[in-house]
Amino acid sequence: MAIAIYPGSFDPITKGHLDIIERASKIFDKLIIGVLNNKQKTPMFSADERVAMIKKVITHLKNVEVSSFEGLLIDFAHMKKANVIVRGLRAITDFEYELQLSQTNKVMAADIETVFFTTNLKYSYLSSSMVKEIANFRGDISPFVNEEIAQEIKNKFRKVEQNGIKNS
Ligand code: ADP
Repeated sequence: MAIAIYPGSFDPITKGHLDIIERASKIFDKLIIGVLNNKQKTPMFSADERVAMIKKVITHLKNVEVSSFEGLLIDFAHMKKANVIVRGLRAITDFEYELQLSQTNKVMAADIETVFFTTNLKYSYLSSSMVKEIANFRGDISPFVNEEIAQEIKNKFRKVEQNGIKNS
């Protein structure tokens, strides 16, 4: 059975991520989305929030599940009995980092292959940080994220604003 892990920050999940998930789910028996809980970063959404948001947009994909992880990706992959890591490649700028990551993982875990999906042209420019930036300036993010996700982002900004006003 080919079990694949699609790891990332997904802060928040975009239509570009979802496109990779849908395509990978057709190729592998099972796809596990791994939400990295990186304690060194301050994400907009907590790992639990990101997992909950992803669950809302993958209900149509029966062989896809999602959970968060900390620490090394290869340890998480072994724990889940996955033999493939899925990553997305957008512009050439992604390439150097992704190559380094996959080669490092290969040295640490020879039994796991990294497979790259090239981005859908429609989403080749799209990143989570761009979505947050647009949302921060109250721009329309509906072309970039699903409706449920757009709503969560708006709610988050509203909460942050209310807290800011309370604290000032
Ligand atoms: P990370 O912090 O691990 O890069 P991201 O959530 O930014 O986490 O991305 C997870 C994976 O999805 C990466 O392989 C990234 O290249 C890929 N990805 C991100 N946005 C897109 C997109 N628009 N199209 C295709 N792949 C993407």
